[in-house]
Amino acid sequence: MDSSAVYPRPVLKKLPLYQSGKPPAAIEGLTPYKLASNENPYAPIKAATDAIVTAATSELVQRYPETTYTQLRTLIGETYHVPIEDVVVGAGSLGVFTALVQTYAGTGEDGALDEVIIPWRSFEAYPIVIRSAGANDVMVPVQDNGEHDLEAMLEAITDRTRIIVLCTPNNPTGPVLTEQVVREFIERVPEHILVVIDGAYVEFVRNDGVVNYLELYREFSNVAVLRTFSKAHGLANLRVGYAVAPEQICAPMRTVMSAFPTSTVGVEAAYASLSNMDEVMANTEKVVGERRRVWRALDALGYNPPATEANFVWLPLGEKSQAFADACGAQALSVRAFAPEGVRVSIGEVEANDRLIQVATDFAE
Ligand SMILES: *Cc1c(COP(=O)(O)O)cnc(C)c1O
Repeated sequence: MDSSAVYPRPVLKKLPLYQSGKPPAAIEGLTPYKLASNENPYAPIKAATDAIVTAATSELVQRYPETTYTQLRTLIGETYHVPIEDVVVGAGSLGVFTALVQTYAGTGEDGALDEVIIPWRSFEAYPIVIRSAGANDVMVPVQDNGEHDLEAMLEAITDRTRIIVLCTPNNPTGPVLTEQVVREFIERVPEHILVVIDGAYVEFVRNDGVVNYLELYREFSNVAVLRTFSKAHGLANLRVGYAVAPEQICAPMRTVMSAFPTSTVGVEAAYASLSNMDEVMANTEKVVGERRRVWRALDALGYNPPATEANFVWLPLGEKSQAFADACGAQALSVRAFAPEGVRVSIGEVEANDRLIQVATDFAE
């Protein structure tokens, strides 16, 4: 038998494989650190881990979750002053993003593909989700300083455009778009096109021009803001994220979302974490301090890292990207090379950051 009669959809040939961050290799005498997936080096806050233990040891694990997630949506609504009808909770913000794309972009009844405009390089999951939904991604290169090229994104709009994605701060390059810049952009986008603002790292932003992009959701009827508990809250494994968008945008997503998108254990942890935002922000403050230290050191070494407002830095190393990642690996640090463009390094534990700076110092010589 050389081939199976069962074959995958042809579109799969057009899908890149998601490369998740690898764990660091063990090196004798060195504590290994993973700086490859933008995870929080700090554990979730105690209220969240307590909630996990309570939920996991109660009798609810053998039951399906209550999937209106009303309690968490109510807290999100109270925290950010939005009606709960405008909040959709799902399996991480990636799960919610997938539902948004499946709801608003795909292959038209005429067989033509809808278009979703994305910055590139950006979050590598975007093209996979978009192409799987039967739509086309239209990649608009980010500028040399890692910022979105918003003019080029506007020029990329066609009559097939259904969604435009803004990733701010942009993963993996780091810069943020201020709310005023995004506002001026959306004013120029036809209102039948959904603008998705992926704010996965917004808690790490210290730029005065950014709160949380929710003002834009209030001002425009075609905006969805994505948030996650995976990064600042340190709950990546539990898969909880949400969108805030007008009810008319949220309601149709129910049709495509899985019946039980995320677990009660995760939702209870998210609830506890969001109830104690001061503690969560104190953790982000430690990461931000380290981000500044690492960025300054790399800048002084001549790496030209773009300004970053997230929990990672981008080194535009071009052809040397893989060599730099290998040098990190030899010191038990896993980082994420996007050869031949650059390397993304997540901010980690202080010792991990120290070692990264040392590797970068040696590599620069
Ligand atoms: C990490 C990340 C997410 C978060 O994904 P979850 O599914 O919530 O874990 C979303 N968007 C971007 C750009 C990210 O980097």
